[in-house]
Amino acid sequence: RASGRQEGRRSRVGIMGGTFDPIHNGHLVAASEVAWVYDLDEVIFVPTGRPVFKLDKQVSEAEDRYLMTVIATASNPKFTVSRVDIDRPGITYTIDTLRDMKALRPNSDLYFITGADAVAEIMRWKDADQMWDLAHFVAVSRPGYSSNLKDLPLPDHKVDMIEIPALAISSTDVRRRAGRGMPVWYLVPDGVVQYINKHGLYKDRGGAGDGSR
Ligand code: ATP
Ligand code: MG
Repeated sequence: RASGRQEGRRSRVGIMGGTFDPIHNGHLVAASEVAWVYDLDEVIFVPTGRPVFKLDKQVSEAEDRYLMTVIATASNPKFTVSRVDIDRPGITYTIDTLRDMKALRPNSDLYFITGADAVAEIMRWKDADQMWDLAHFVAVSRPGYSSNLKDLPLPDHKVDMIEIPALAISSTDVRRRAGRGMPVWYLVPDGVVQYINKHGLYKDRGGAGDGSR
């Protein structure tokens, strides 16, 4: 744990960006663990608008992804959800997310949380060289992806890698399972299971349109 709580210190705010199509327990454990290790006061989940690396893929309505994120985080007093990315027109770039969050929380230190897979792409992000002054970056381990930052061309002291309890869950797998009628209980929070069923999300996915598994 990085430090104890001090009187009058700047608040520490985590930013957890993602497509969240849907949000799953891997995202929630990542946010919870980083909040613990860095003594964060708040973690703001920020569902993307149009994600730049998924332009060729089918993504659920922003409003559905936003509401599932609200449902999943509602019970945690430190977790909140921001609409900045879904309300900003056009493609979502992390640099814009960070600038918006800095404007909203001028007296906070920002900690941007990403998985080991996303951090590997970070240098490809728009205006990557300008991101380091806006936030500290925390990459969390993720099953199936290398957690060795040394192989990546990242600036010194701006990105940490931490080991978190391994959950081999991805939204892609949850969508595939839901599309095939397989259970997603305990991979996503109960309210998200119910939201997926209530709105018939992912029904047309999974390549199992013929009803086979
Ligand atoms: P998809 O399969 O659609 O890409 P995903 O499961 O990767 O979905 P995203 O919304 O793309 O979820 O991820 C948001 C952030 O959460 C990314 O930084 C990603 O690396 C991280 N993340 C997602 N799942 C996990 C997990 N199981 N463990 C650790 N980090 C994760
Ligand atoms: Mg992903």
